[in-house]
Amino acid sequence: MSIETLTAAVRNIPDFPIKGIQFKDITTLFQSPSHLKELSDILYEKYKNKGITKVVGIESRGFFLGPQLAVRLNAGFVPIRKPGKLPYKVIEERYTKEYGEDAIQIHEDALTEDDVVLIHDDLLATGGTMVAAHKLVKKMGVKKVYINFLIELEALNGRSLFPEEVELETILKFE
Ligand code: AMP
Repeated sequence: MSIETLTAAVRNIPDFPIKGIQFKDITTLFQSPSHLKELSDILYEKYKNKGITKVVGIESRGFFLGPQLAVRLNAGFVPIRKPGKLPYKVIEERYTKEYGEDAIQIHEDALTEDDVVLIHDDLLATGGTMVAAHKLVKKMGVKKVYINFLIELEALNGRSLFPEEVELETILKFE
């Protein structure tokens, strides 16, 4: 299946959740068994030889493919969540959003210095969320970090927030 076919299966919802946002709805992509299998295979092929020991998924759409990718890579799965959701001791990273501040958290014992980590989320927009997630994971002293998104909104240039050496890959690109 081509990247164009996968891209065409993403539904665009204008003005959701607020006016001016072109929301990329991935449920239409995921509900098709053949599309879902193709996405899973692409991700697996990209990362199967990187020695990934943990896939870190960002709440909430990073939880759709993150765990199954972890299973295929023979890695563990670790959630990054919004404040107040994780039950044990956490490390937190704050970041600025379009309207006000937000924060994300990870369990303090979820990653070790032996881990090779793949952080996964559905979509790269401004990049604010992933920059915070990347900082959080780096703080834990892991061996290496890869970053992956299913979708990149290229016009927002979120990619530019990451240093050159960061290995960031996206699968489907929109303007
Ligand atoms: P950002 O921090 O700006 O890169 O936003 C990233 C998060 O917001 C992602 O985890 C997405 O789930 C969500 N998001 C932002 N913009 C969109 C959009 N146009 N369509 C769907 N989800 C979006």
